[in-house]
Amino acid sequence: ATVLAIESSCDETAVAVLRGRESLLSAVVASQIEAHRPFGGVVPELASRQHSAATPGLLAAALEKAGVDVADVDVFAATAGPGLASSLLVGNTTAKALALACGKPFLAINHLEGHLLSPFFGDSEGVQPNVALVVSGGHTMLVDVAGVGSYELMGRSRDDAAGEAFDKVAKMLGLPYPGGPLIDQLAVEGDPKAYDFPRSMMKKPGFEFSFSGLKTSVRYLTETFDQEKRDEWLPDVCASFQQAVVDVLVGKTLRAAKAAGRKLVTVSGGVGCNRCLREEMQRACDRAGLDLRIAEPALSTDNAAMIAYVAHEHHLLGRSSSLDSDVDPNLPLTNQANRA
Ligand code: ATP
Ligand code: MG
Ligand code: FE
Repeated sequence: ATVLAIESSCDETAVAVLRGRESLLSAVVASQIEAHRPFGGVVPELASRQHSAATPGLLAAALEKAGVDVADVDVFAATAGPGLASSLLVGNTTAKALALACGKPFLAINHLEGHLLSPFFGDSEGVQPNVALVVSGGHTMLVDVAGVGSYELMGRSRDDAAGEAFDKVAKMLGLPYPGGPLIDQLAVEGDPKAYDFPRSMMKKPGFEFSFSGLKTSVRYLTETFDQEKRDEWLPDVCASFQQAVVDVLVGKTLRAAKAAGRKLVTVSGGVGCNRCLREEMQRACDRAGLDLRIAEPALSTDNAAMIAYVAHEHHLLGRSSSLDSDVDPNLPLTNQANRA
């Protein structure tokens, strides 16, 4: 089947055309980062206007690049949540209108399921059982994945998501939004052992995370520092903060894989781009005899290819959504999952 998917849950408008499980015919993304940067974060009203402005052009570009006529699309899909309601509505309404006009089925897709299954994108075998670490801007979760649609939440963050911690610490350090990738860059020059930041929840049993205490520790420490000498301490602070986050993510993920009896670990979401996390997760999995799959960076941050992929898998299982279905800013991945 040929699937056209639209993603507009936050600050990226994206359209992708996927044929079958493996051939990504096109994937275009318009980032709104520059529009939101002066405000230090995403402004909902601005986001929905930008989605509305970008969608028609992206749709045309995605179809043209794919060499596909809109009449040849078999399924139209869009993210239905979680995300910003007014942003979700743009992609969701557009995909429904196209489905109605073309007389084809519509599929409402969970953004988190998009992240969750993205490590399997392009694999002819499809989704394999795994323990998944989803680390994005709004979520940090460990999920036991038995197969498509069968997800059990093992644990999540009680407060800030990992990506949120990266962005908040970066902002505190005077770095522009979004700061996650900048901390990753600056950390290369720093010493990860320079400061001993707390590894919250590391020793506690269970699979919950907490990152707000770490953020506070970075604030208390850097408040005592000479701002004139920022260039000297900044790389060390970034490297030490990043190491504390990575230690907890890697430690808990390996423990979860063992508890669930899975031989495969996956990592997805924007923080999955982090080089330290990728390296250390690989090393830890090698040591434990586990396989690791991490989506390539372009598929880790928000994109429509991952939404098209989930739609394709659901379509194969015979699922479709009602044109009356609504978006849900808090749409859970599993019955127990919530924001964070
Ligand atoms: P959610 O999917 O939970 O709704 P989101 O869609 O905003 O949130 P993503 O697009 O998956 O999140 O990821 C964005 C997050 O990833 C941001 O917090 C960003 O700082 C972080 N991020 C991206 N690259 C890196 C990196 N190299 N190191 C650390 N964090 C990173
Ligand atoms: Mg984003
Ligand atoms: Fe996301």
